[in-house]
Amino acid sequence: MHRTIAYIFLGTAIAAAQETPTERVAAHDVVRKMADLEKTVDVSGWVERLTVSNPERDRVVARAKQLMDAELIAMGDDITRHPEIGFKEKRSVAILTDYLKQHGFEVTMGVAGLDTGFVARYKGNHGAPNLGVILEYDALRGTQGAFHGDQHSTQGPIGMAAAVAMAEYLERTHAAGSVTVFGTPGEEMMPPAAKTDMYKAHAFDGMDVIVRSHSTSASTRAAAGFGTCCLNIDGVKYTFSGAPAHQMTPWAGRNALEAVIHLFNNIDTLRGTFRPETRVQGIVTEGGAAPNVVPDRAQADFYIRYPDAIYLAQVREMVDNAARAAALETGTRVKIDNYGQLRDGISVASLDEVGFAYLKRYGATNVMEEPGKPQGYEETGTVSSEIPGAGFSAQTSTFANHTYGMETDTLAEIGHHGFLVDAQAMTALLFDFATHPEYRATVKREFDGIHALFGEYQEALRKTYTVPPVPEPK
Ligand SMILES: [Zn+2]
Repeated sequence: MHRTIAYIFLGTAIAAAQETPTERVAAHDVVRKMADLEKTVDVSGWVERLTVSNPERDRVVARAKQLMDAELIAMGDDITRHPEIGFKEKRSVAILTDYLKQHGFEVTMGVAGLDTGFVARYKGNHGAPNLGVILEYDALRGTQGAFHGDQHSTQGPIGMAAAVAMAEYLERTHAAGSVTVFGTPGEEMMPPAAKTDMYKAHAFDGMDVIVRSHSTSASTRAAAGFGTCCLNIDGVKYTFSGAPAHQMTPWAGRNALEAVIHLFNNIDTLRGTFRPETRVQGIVTEGGAAPNVVPDRAQADFYIRYPDAIYLAQVREMVDNAARAAALETGTRVKIDNYGQLRDGISVASLDEVGFAYLKRYGATNVMEEPGKPQGYEETGTVSSEIPGAGFSAQTSTFANHTYGMETDTLAEIGHHGFLVDAQAMTALLFDFATHPEYRATVKREFDGIHALFGEYQEALRKTYTVPPVPEPK
C-alpha cells in the first residue's frame, strides 16, 4: 500500500474525498459542514503557534536524529538486505523488539494471535496523553523472492527513534504521558488485516493519537476528511468443489475449474451493469492438478473495489451471486470467504498540517504544496477511523512504490535523508501533542466532527444507491 499522490481539485481539498459524481451530490451537505468545521479549527493558527522556535522540542528532535544517525539508519539498511514477507518477519521483529527492550520498553509478542505482531510499552509510562507509534516491516512478495520495494524496512527504525526520544523526554521531565509502540505485520497482505485484528483484540485501546510513516516519491500529506488511498476493498475467495472423473468420461464428474471460468465470465458480463468506478480483479489460485482428471476443486481470489463501502456492498452481492450461478450451472458447490476488508479512514488537518510543516522544516524534498486526498494514516481504516493520527511521508525515493528502484533507494542518500526527515517531524508532532492540552482538545474536536459527518455521509449514500424493484415475469 502507499499514499496515492492523486490530486483531485473540486473547489476545496475537503471535497476530494468524494470520487464519483453520485458521491459528490450525496455528500453536498456533509462537505459544507466539513468546511464549516475546518474553519473553526484554525489550522494555520496552530501551525504558526506550534512550529515557532522551541529549544525543548528541538532537544527531543535532536535526540531522535542522534538515534537515527548512530544506529537506526543502519538497522533499516540491515532489514532492507534481509527482506521477509508478511507474517514471516521473524528476524526483523527480533531486531526491532531487542532495540525497544534495550531502551526501556516492555514487549508483548503474539498480539491478536499474530506471531509477528507486538505491543511495546515504555516502562516509565504514566497516564495520558497516550501516544502510539505504528511500525511495519513486511517486504513485498516478488517473483524473484521478497524485496523491500515499499521501504517498510525502515518504518520500524523511524518510529522507534520518535518513540524512544519522546519516552525519554516524558520521563526526564516527569510530564504526564505514555508511549506505546505497535508492531503490525503483513501490511501488504490479507488475510488477516493485522491492524484490524489487533484493534479488535483491544491492542489500540486508550490511544489519544497514533503516528506512522510511509515511503513515497513526493513529500505529501492528506487533506482533512475521510477516505482511503486505493478504494474500499473486499478480499473474497471463491472455492468450488465438484467430483473427479476421467477426462474420457467427464459427464461422470463435476468440473470445479469450469465453475471458476464461468465466474470470471459472469463478472465480465456484469461490468456493463456496475457503476463505472467499480474495480473487480481476480486470480485463479487453484485450477486442478492434471488435464486427464476432471478437477474436483478450484479456487479464485478477488479484490473487489469501489470508492465507498455502501455501493461496494451491492457489487459484492452481484459478484457473490455470479459465483452461485457458476456453481448452479456446473453442478458444483461454492464456498464464499470474505477474508478481508479495507475501508475509509479519517485524516485531520490539525495533525497533518502541523506534521507537514515539520517535514518541510527538516528538509523534505519534492514537496507537494497542495494536500492529497483525505485518507487514514493506516491502510485498513479500522484504526484510523476510530483514533486520531497522522501519516508522515517525506520523499524517500525517485521511484514509484512497489519497484526495485524504490528498494535500491532505501539504501541510498535519498532514502536515508527522507527517513531522517520523517523521524524528526514525527517526534516534533508528538512533542506538540504531548505538551499542549488545548492542541489535543482541538485535534479531538476536529476528529469527532469528521467522525460524525462520516456517519451522515454513509446515511446519504444509503439513500442514493437504491435498488430498483424487479417484478416477477408475467
Ligand atoms: Zn506499504
